[in-house]
Amino acid sequence: MVSLLESRGFEVVLDKSERNLTESELIKVLPGIDVHIAGVDQYTDKVMAAADKLSLICRIGVGVENVNIEAASAKGILVTNTPGAGAETVAEFTFGLMMALTRRIAVSQEVVRSGKWNRSMGRSIIGKKLGIIGFGNIGAALSKMVSGFNMNIVVYDPYMNAETAAKHGIQLVSLPELLRESDYVSVHVPFNSGTENMIGQKELALMKPSAMLINTSRGGIVNEAALHDALKNGIIDSAALDVFSQEPPPPDHPLLKLPNVLVTAHNAGTTYEGRNKLMEACVRTVIDVADGKQPAGLKNPLVWGRARMFSSEFRTSHSSVEQAQS
Ligand code: NAD
Repeated sequence: MVSLLESRGFEVVLDKSERNLTESELIKVLPGIDVHIAGVDQYTDKVMAAADKLSLICRIGVGVENVNIEAASAKGILVTNTPGAGAETVAEFTFGLMMALTRRIAVSQEVVRSGKWNRSMGRSIIGKKLGIIGFGNIGAALSKMVSGFNMNIVVYDPYMNAETAAKHGIQLVSLPELLRESDYVSVHVPFNSGTENMIGQKELALMKPSAMLINTSRGGIVNEAALHDALKNGIIDSAALDVFSQEPPPPDHPLLKLPNVLVTAHNAGTTYEGRNKLMEACVRTVIDVADGKQPAGLKNPLVWGRARMFSSEFRTSHSSVEQAQS
């Protein structure tokens, strides 16, 4: 993929830090850079001010809440993500979490590692009801993936119409209905002011005591204090969390102390195959923009047409793409 960009005249600068960059690191790195392939690096207004040449931020992934899109737009910087490219990767991890919770796989591992050989009674996933909150690329991939498990699927997504629901063979319901009926509730909405704390004390109280909650979307969508109370007091059975409102969570985070919580380190999108797909999608975006074609996943379409485009002169000489972590 690097060679594809180089063949188009880009100079590619690889970031070897293996982590997301802080505001001050970005401020140092970005001057002179035309395109940044970004992870969840912190793109604040100060970063935008320091980015003298930047014309495109391509987020390798979906969530763009780490990018101040307003500040980018004000400078004519395009912001894109890679819609759909990592959906199956996240969906399969989500299903893995559902399975691990249900069949108590992590619990059993801990028992065996501690030198014991006790069997742990789980439940079966087959024929259960799965409630999907947010039926975009990941929610749809999950629903397709579980079809072999004869699960009943209900969906809450206020932006979806009945026609699309029928096409996917799923039933659209209200959020309270979904919470009341589901054996599994899996969250797949973007983080924004409308979804922050959308699952709190009131919503958890509607769930079945046997229900399991899985969040592979973003921390902060499920209120952590309310979830802790619900898990501690048997309001719901268990939860699997790939994301936290602060990442990494502090070691004394109350949720980390509960036996009925399975935690992973924002890992749902992390496979070699998935990473390649995301990178391919970003390279496609860079080439589309270079060719003057509006790219997929453009988050600030109003900027298109007045964007700071990298010119053909840059493309054939020394435009730079910096690859970062997702
Ligand atoms: P998407 O944009 O394709 O789908 C999001 C869906 O949520 C849309 O259908 C939208 O209509 C719906 N939605 C928006 N607001 C809603 C609301 N208030 N209530 C119910 N539905 C609502 O996004 P996607 O690719 O499916 O990804 C979903 C989220 O997963 C991303 O925003 C990202 O934060 C997260 N994610 C996490 C990882 C990880 O590693 N854990 C990886 C990729 C994505």
